[in-house]
Amino acid sequence: MLRLTELKLPLDHTPEALRAAALARLGLQEPDLLDLHVFRRGYDARKRTAIHLIYTLDLTLRNEAAVLRRFAQDPHVNPSPDMAYRFVGRAPEGFNDRPVVIGAGPCGLMAALILAQMGFRPIILERGKVVRERTKDTWGLWRRSELNPESNVQFGEGGAGTFSDGKLYSQIKDPQHHSRKLLEEFVKAGAPEEILYVSKPHIGTFRLVTMVESMRRTIEELGGEYRFSTKVVDLDVDVASDGTRRMRGLHLEGGGYLEASHVVLAVGHSARDTFQMLLERGVYMEAKPFSVGFRIEHPQGMIDTCRFGDFAGNKTLGAADYKLAHHCKGKGLEGRTVYSFCMCPGGTVVAATSEPGRVVTNGMSQYSRAERNANAAIVVSVTPEDYPGGVLAGIDFQRELEERAFRAGGGDYRAPAQTVGDFLAGRPSTTLGEVIPSYKPGVTPTDLAPCIPDFAAAAIREALPAFDRQIRGYARPDAVMTGVETRTSSPVRVRRGAAGHSLNTLGLFPAGEGAGYAGGILSAGVDGIKTAEAVARSLLGLPTEM
Ligand code: FAD
Repeated sequence: MLRLTELKLPLDHTPEALRAAALARLGLQEPDLLDLHVFRRGYDARKRTAIHLIYTLDLTLRNEAAVLRRFAQDPHVNPSPDMAYRFVGRAPEGFNDRPVVIGAGPCGLMAALILAQMGFRPIILERGKVVRERTKDTWGLWRRSELNPESNVQFGEGGAGTFSDGKLYSQIKDPQHHSRKLLEEFVKAGAPEEILYVSKPHIGTFRLVTMVESMRRTIEELGGEYRFSTKVVDLDVDVASDGTRRMRGLHLEGGGYLEASHVVLAVGHSARDTFQMLLERGVYMEAKPFSVGFRIEHPQGMIDTCRFGDFAGNKTLGAADYKLAHHCKGKGLEGRTVYSFCMCPGGTVVAATSEPGRVVTNGMSQYSRAERNANAAIVVSVTPEDYPGGVLAGIDFQRELEERAFRAGGGDYRAPAQTVGDFLAGRPSTTLGEVIPSYKPGVTPTDLAPCIPDFAAAAIREALPAFDRQIRGYARPDAVMTGVETRTSSPVRVRRGAAGHSLNTLGLFPAGEGAGYAGGILSAGVDGIKTAEAVARSLLGLPTEM
């Protein structure tokens, strides 16, 4: 097969035009083209008056070798890469050393699936509930202000990204095409086929729920086993006379114990009690930077018009997204960056705390992205220098901001909210404007600035007018912000070595977002695949690489 990249077509082209354009580009006739497969479809909207679709095609040709020779100097004509996934090995018949996966988020799910496909019959321990039960609990907070600390937006089957926009893009390096394997598995589990080829795929909340169930069935059919409402509360680590530490088992809440020599630790960024336990058990970890700020909402129509001009509302383009970054220049703010994060076109802002007495915002959408508002986090990078203390000082810092937001919101899980006009003028909001905040269970107009450190508020004040120069109306006075956004990534890194084991505890495989090795559904899932491979190598005594 031959891969043709950067093939440009008008937005409203006919299906036949794609074939014709490929033939014309390669100077071929119709009978030469045996098959055409769209590998990727993106768009170029830099010129709003002339938005184009950009294709990457895989072509099966009658005389492929000759065409490749003829275009040898053309960077856009190459042999298609081999992206087939290959397992690193297979569990021998009757193999009994079952690996354990802690956490059923995207990382744990993909790790468990790959291990199951290799015949290792993994055991998955998840502190939260099955996804349908969890959905009810999550809505309990959104509708009735009732939080279940073990079953919520962060905890339960599917992990943190289940009630989300389901964006599946990432900037990770992926030379082994692991993300292809993930996308193919997601499609098998019910995700829309287009995630395989659109440049910015998304799934939306409803489909994520059914996908997660379907993946569970597959893992179980392959001999895997799930245990829900099963929290790991301690590690049993064997310490040899030379100091070598090796996993022996896991203590479960309620007194249970599970022998385990190979454990994937995929607990996500909100497992604060688990991080505390890991620290007490002497597992090597360190504080790492993350970001804090607010969630901002605008009318989606305004974003569409600004990004797509007359093409706003075009079905192929869908609801417009954006990505913004501002490097601060103000006194004392040098070196700080304010950026948009987890942008959800046509979505809603959701209550995302996992702990009582705290308020956290995040965003989600359905596949249709048809809600009135666009939302995105606007956050400022913070580093351990901003929260001096021990390894877990970042968690204390997050908690402090989340508690301030809880109090400012009225102490009943409403989020504090402020219009951009009032925030820039430095006065509390008493009423809101045309942009109606979507956060449930509701908002309290107030002053948001005291919910985050002064430098962070100042940085956002500097960034909003700069963003307005890129998206007209971004700093409109009635754009509305809610807060706080603190769970942007893990405040810790649980370090691992080249073979995937924890730096000082053999058999413990830190993985995914919580361990500081991923950010987002796709990268967490890909890290799960890599970690499953590392576990399999270790179990089979194969050479290590990660
Ligand atoms: P998690 O998904 O956090 O999963 C960890 C799991 O471990 C949880 O289910 C938890 O219950 C379990 N666990 C924790 N501790 C224990 C324990 N001690 N014992 C047993 N189980 C335990 N990312 C995107 O790429 N696109 C998006 O559109 C997107 N939107 C988001 C919207 C929301 C509302 C949220 C909250 C997040 C969103 N994210 C999005 C981020 C994404 O969800 C995470 O990056 C991703 O889920 C991380 O995967 P993970 O498997 O590493 O951890």
